[in-house]
Amino acid sequence: MSAEAPSEVLACPDCGRGFTAEERFCPDCRMPLVFAGVESPEPARDAAHEHARKIRPEFARGDLVRVAGGRNQAEAELIQNLLLEEGVPSMLRRSAGFDVPDFLAAGPRDILVPASGAPAALDALQEADMAPTDEEEYRVSGRHAMLVLGGIVLGGLLAALIAWTMLQAVG
Ligand SMILES: [Zn+2]
Repeated sequence: MSAEAPSEVLACPDCGRGFTAEERFCPDCRMPLVFAGVESPEPARDAAHEHARKIRPEFARGDLVRVAGGRNQAEAELIQNLLLEEGVPSMLRRSAGFDVPDFLAAGPRDILVPASGAPAALDALQEADMAPTDEEEYRVSGRHAMLVLGGIVLGGLLAALIAWTMLQAVG
């Protein structure tokens, strides 16, 4: 075994502390260690790798908190990309308590980010809201709202019909 190898080959990406090759995580920051002294990482090979490089480790800690909502999957993914540009990783979750049938792609989504990235995420979202609204986009959004509303009304009617049928069967 090469016991006399240079002691600190790994470093914590968060606090910068050096570690030996035997370590895997920084005990203070709980961050996976990276090789020290890597000044220029290799260029991104593909989209997934590119995404991983954009994420800032200091924004990837803590419990997931909801910072925004998308009216549908596409809008939620748009917001995710926006956050990624700021280095904030995020994930989507179908909004709770919104009883839309699963087949309805227009169902709203929650956008969740780690607690440490929430302030940066909110900043980015606020900036994005200040951008001028595109009229075409506005019309499309209106149509989406009608779709969602239609789904809710239809779902309610269906539920009422089922309840009525069951009552008939009992009586
Ligand atoms: Zn550390």
